[in-house]
Amino acid sequence: MPILKRAIGPVMTWGLLCVMLSAVGVLSTRSAVRAGRSSAADITADPRVRQALAKLASEAPSVTEEQIRIAEIPAPTFRESLRGTHLAKLLSDAGLKVHTDEAGNVIGERAGSAKGEFVLITAHLDTVFPAGTDVHVRRQGSKLWAPGISDNGAGLATLPAIARSMRETKLETRSSILFVADVGEEGEGNLRGIRKLVENYRKQLRYVIALDGASIDYVTTAALASRRVEITISGPGGHSWSDFGVPNPIDALARGIALFLKAPPPDSPRTTFNVGSIEGGTSVNSIPAKASIKVDLRSEAEPEILKLETALRRAIQSGMDEEMQAARDHGAAGGAGLSIDTKVLGLRPGGELPPNSPLLAAVQAADDYLGNRARMERSSTDANIPLSLGIPAIALGAGGNSGGAHSLQEWYDPTGREIGMQRLLLTLLQVAGLNPPTD
Ligand SMILES: [Zn+2]
Repeated sequence: MPILKRAIGPVMTWGLLCVMLSAVGVLSTRSAVRAGRSSAADITADPRVRQALAKLASEAPSVTEEQIRIAEIPAPTFRESLRGTHLAKLLSDAGLKVHTDEAGNVIGERAGSAKGEFVLITAHLDTVFPAGTDVHVRRQGSKLWAPGISDNGAGLATLPAIARSMRETKLETRSSILFVADVGEEGEGNLRGIRKLVENYRKQLRYVIALDGASIDYVTTAALASRRVEITISGPGGHSWSDFGVPNPIDALARGIALFLKAPPPDSPRTTFNVGSIEGGTSVNSIPAKASIKVDLRSEAEPEILKLETALRRAIQSGMDEEMQAARDHGAAGGAGLSIDTKVLGLRPGGELPPNSPLLAAVQAADDYLGNRARMERSSTDANIPLSLGIPAIALGAGGNSGGAHSLQEWYDPTGREIGMQRLLLTLLQVAGLNPPTD
């Protein structure tokens, strides 16, 4: 399908690019639409598309300014509404019909010519940073510094830019396109936004593209499965001196964690765990009545996660048994013992895009056209939910460069961001099916 394979570097000027493209754009838009899908070469033969690509390049600086405004509106997971309202205005100004669903997702619809088929392009509103975090954007040379500036300021600012470029160049598609700013992608949000979208549009969703962060060096085509659990141990509590020997929930967890660490997970399939938080107790001279840990478990193969979770539960149970035995040895276990409670905080299912998916072919054709090289990656994103249900989905970066995601040292550099936007538009037009001009 791609005719311009690796022929053009991203540094080539637009004028020259357009001349070359008209020379090689051999298939007409009409024949591509008849075939059900357009290829990158088909659609770039259309002057409207080339105009839209040039528009995205010239608008890149204003998209960056918009990104700064977005990043400076705090949006911790579960508290996305202020930023959501701002996105609703941007999407509406871009000519979309906007509504907010029951989960808080902001949805801008661009109607296509076919009834009841949708391509969903979504960027998450939320950040991992708690309320009160300083989100003021600092500039240093070409770099912007702020928590959340790239993840997901980059994705969010790109949504309305794509919609505007389509409106201004009169690009119409067969499938309707939903431009969405969704909630609950990070941490304990447990992908609640994309879950609701998939539930509401399930039968009509043809493709899903999640826009997350900046990098265009890779395409996320496989969903990393994960499970997050909280284990709490409760006991009688007591005085550090007079009740010494009474079973201690923190000691029990410590014994359990030590046992769990003795059996590392497999390297292949890559499987990981993180004891990410531990809390409990009220004062240094009180035996705690309660202690808990939160653990993140991930694997390339879902069955390994369940094995790892079973190992974790058994280890903590054994740690608790050891602690009870120690209390009995002290003659201090006569009263109430310890109890254990496990809660699943989140569950992200895995899945994979088939290698012959038209969605992957579309991104690759766009990359070939733009001279971009990208590898395929497995990651945990909004694409997990559609992929787990067999709906073709990928996650893409919005363009530019970034670093320090999920830390207070997060930065974003917009240099070259237009390539990311152009790549996205070309991908979108291919899978949504570009209609020929109406006049
Ligand atoms: Zn993100």
